[in-house]
Amino acid sequence: MSPISQMNRPEHTPYPKLSTTQIEENVLPQLNQWALCNGLIMADKDNASKATVAPTTVFPTPIPAKVFENAKTLQKTYNQLYAQVSNSDWLMEESAKLTHSDPEFTGKLYDMAKKCDSKQTLKLGLFRSDYLIDKSSEQIKQVEFNTVSVSFAGLSTRVGELHSFLNSLGAYDSTGEMKMFYEGMGELPVSESSVFMPRGLARAFTMYPSMNSETKKEKAAIAFIVEPNETNLFDQKVIEFNLLRLYGIKSIRLTFEEALKDLEYSTFDDNKRIIHKKTGKEIGVVYYRTGYTTGDYYNESCWKAREFLENSFAIKAPTLDIQLAGSKKVQQLLTQDEILDKFIDDEATKKELVKTFVKIYPLDDSKLGKEGKKLALACTSNNAKYVLKPQREGGGNNIYKEEIPNFLKTIDESEWDSYILMEMIDVKASTENYLVRDGKLTKEPVISELGIYGTILFDKDSIRSNEYAGSLLRTKLSSSNEGGVVAGFGTVDSMCLV
Ligand code: ADP
Ligand code: MG
Ligand code: MG
Repeated sequence: MSPISQMNRPEHTPYPKLSTTQIEENVLPQLNQWALCNGLIMADKDNASKATVAPTTVFPTPIPAKVFENAKTLQKTYNQLYAQVSNSDWLMEESAKLTHSDPEFTGKLYDMAKKCDSKQTLKLGLFRSDYLIDKSSEQIKQVEFNTVSVSFAGLSTRVGELHSFLNSLGAYDSTGEMKMFYEGMGELPVSESSVFMPRGLARAFTMYPSMNSETKKEKAAIAFIVEPNETNLFDQKVIEFNLLRLYGIKSIRLTFEEALKDLEYSTFDDNKRIIHKKTGKEIGVVYYRTGYTTGDYYNESCWKAREFLENSFAIKAPTLDIQLAGSKKVQQLLTQDEILDKFIDDEATKKELVKTFVKIYPLDDSKLGKEGKKLALACTSNNAKYVLKPQREGGGNNIYKEEIPNFLKTIDESEWDSYILMEMIDVKASTENYLVRDGKLTKEPVISELGIYGTILFDKDSIRSNEYAGSLLRTKLSSSNEGGVVAGFGTVDSMCLV
């Protein structure tokens, strides 16, 4: 990290004119205390009861109001698109093609989805569509669409509240006056995600036909399927606490291994209802906060647990097919006109979605795939404008720019088609904000990624509810290609609309 220096700020900046020393002395203690007091925190890897302040920004980041509005408006369309994809035979055909080159993950999910015999027809999508803002057009471009285990719905609300608190405190103000509004600063929206994501879960829970419908709230629960030693524990806890506070719905946290040990199918009927043995509670909704990458299935019993849960009568958030729909390959295919046409009739709607796409190429033997291979192999400098992505989630999996050709040479060409080649989105970096991690300030060029949450409850024939569910801003050093907060590259942030 380069040393922190006080930059000369342009006249009309939405950031307050504070020196690093002023921030360290006046803002940081308040920020830390508020964060610890209100749960803007992460758990220690080795000791879950020990918490530290989550990596965050000092200031909210200015985002054009029209950009935010545009992303919000699109969310229900994206929710519906991915719901339709998950219901389609097309998805299963495309997923089948990935099994030979990715047998260890996509192949296993696909085989399980194919064999799944659950009697539950309702499915719950808890989604997050991620965007970067293209520098020249100031238009959102989609980085990816997440359909499994989306995180930060809890902490996103908290960081918005933190920034509002610092604002109203006047802690940003250099003159000592209790004001912090400065040129160009607009509304500070606080993300509703910590309430709207639980609402999505609650809608599914309410629709679940329990053995004891009159006493469902007492006799049933939502199962959170989680990783052991989860550092992002408190983000999940916000969802859990809000389910109880707002809807009276109880939750049970289980790792895959615990699920296999502590759950069984009931003999009440032949629906494979799940019962939690220790409490006798029936599991109405299975909510995955793990299971999105190979490491989450660290032994065979994890795969067995997934199968046990999938075949059950509980409503899954998400089902295997919803998870498969979120693959990078599907995202690439949807950028092809003739594929998008299968799912969207309305031309105006299609146009709005297409505006958010950048070029994505397959690496197969199709015409487009051959073009993709050529472009991939031509990425020989740091100026190359492509990123190579495997069918994986959770950050740290991509291969960037000039690393692409050498990487491809390490794998057999027959396996290249489990990767996609995506145009890099050109983002404007800012030097105005400070990042805080482990109590230390960093001031280097940063860029921000906007996430929009959505929830959709549906079956084969109908959509029962489809809603926008809040927002997320993550800000990272522009020098790091990846932006994962948990992975250690980024921070949670909030917006000020300009
Ligand atoms: P994951 O599912 O692992 O989160 P992403 O597709 O979100 O994978 O990629 C991880 C990160 O890589 C993103 O958060 C972003 O910072 C960067 N990234 C991915 N695609 C692009 C792109 N097309 N242009 C610029 N940066 C990108
Ligand atoms: Mg992802
Ligand atoms: Mg991502």
